[in-house]
Amino acid sequence: MSLVVVGTVAFDAIETPFGKTDKIIGGAATYSGISASYFGKDIKLVSVVGEDFPTDMIEKFGQFGLNTEGLQIKKGQKTFFWSGKYHVDMNTRDTLDTQLNVLLDFDPVIPASYQDCEFLMLSNLMPQLQKKVIERMNKRPRLVVMDTMNFWMETQMDALIDTIKLVDVLTINDSEARKLTNEYSLVRAAQKILKMGPKYLIIKKGEHGALLFNKEQVFFAPALPLEDVFDPTGAGDTFAGGFIGYLAQTRDISFENMKRGIIYGSAMASFCVEKFGIERLAELKQEEIDERVQQFVNLVQFDIELV
Ligand code: AMP
Repeated sequence: MSLVVVGTVAFDAIETPFGKTDKIIGGAATYSGISASYFGKDIKLVSVVGEDFPTDMIEKFGQFGLNTEGLQIKKGQKTFFWSGKYHVDMNTRDTLDTQLNVLLDFDPVIPASYQDCEFLMLSNLMPQLQKKVIERMNKRPRLVVMDTMNFWMETQMDALIDTIKLVDVLTINDSEARKLTNEYSLVRAAQKILKMGPKYLIIKKGEHGALLFNKEQVFFAPALPLEDVFDPTGAGDTFAGGFIGYLAQTRDISFENMKRGIIYGSAMASFCVEKFGIERLAELKQEEIDERVQQFVNLVQFDIELV
């Protein structure tokens, strides 16, 4: 597929009201890449890990359909580590620890076989590295989607704004949209963000769905009401991977198709939260995805006659 995914490949330690994990495989690019792989194979990964990252996992990435030619393995260095603890509502969390490790001197290299890709997913990563990846593509991709996180707003706001200017679609969650703009109203926040550069903005609202904005239109997609949410880690990245995966598969970047992309992204995210880490995402079947998308259609479809 004509899609490059860049972002973290990580070790995560997660605590939720349902349990706690030791170091498990995580990372924004891991979730986005695996999610996108359900829409086409040969997803071109750009990332970095340390010597401590299991080689069998890299092989597994290959089995999912991820091309790991752009995944650097740094001898004597440690993989990026993140640890988070969810509150009882599962919608909010505290970051307990972020160890950048191998990311500190990461210099992304875009292999020749990745050049000329039409779609670029900038999953969560240092904003100046996300910018470097755009600059290092020989030709600007047709669609650049960027995800980010409050951590970069707190530590590298200027670099973040500089990168946001260059992308077509920005995906962030509601609290990040408020933080980025100092606006409580999400509509006002969206108007401000759309003036910063992106043509489209997706605001993710966890269990309350997602909003897609451009300057003239807005679309709302619900999240599937789930009985149990086990671990929300990676839901945002999985959403973004499903969204861009669907667009890359259909090669249609119209607002109408983005609406469908959001439904696919939401369906993928709804699987992600059912188990810890990438466990549920890694075992999905196409029929399950189709069935879930149908559930979304049923959830929002109604007839109304205006008198
Ligand atoms: P999400 O739950 O969608 O926000 O994504 C969580 C994933 O993002 C985890 O697997 C982490 O390894 C990764 N992550 C956490 N903090 C950062 C960060 N500052 N930069 C890049 N990736 C991060």
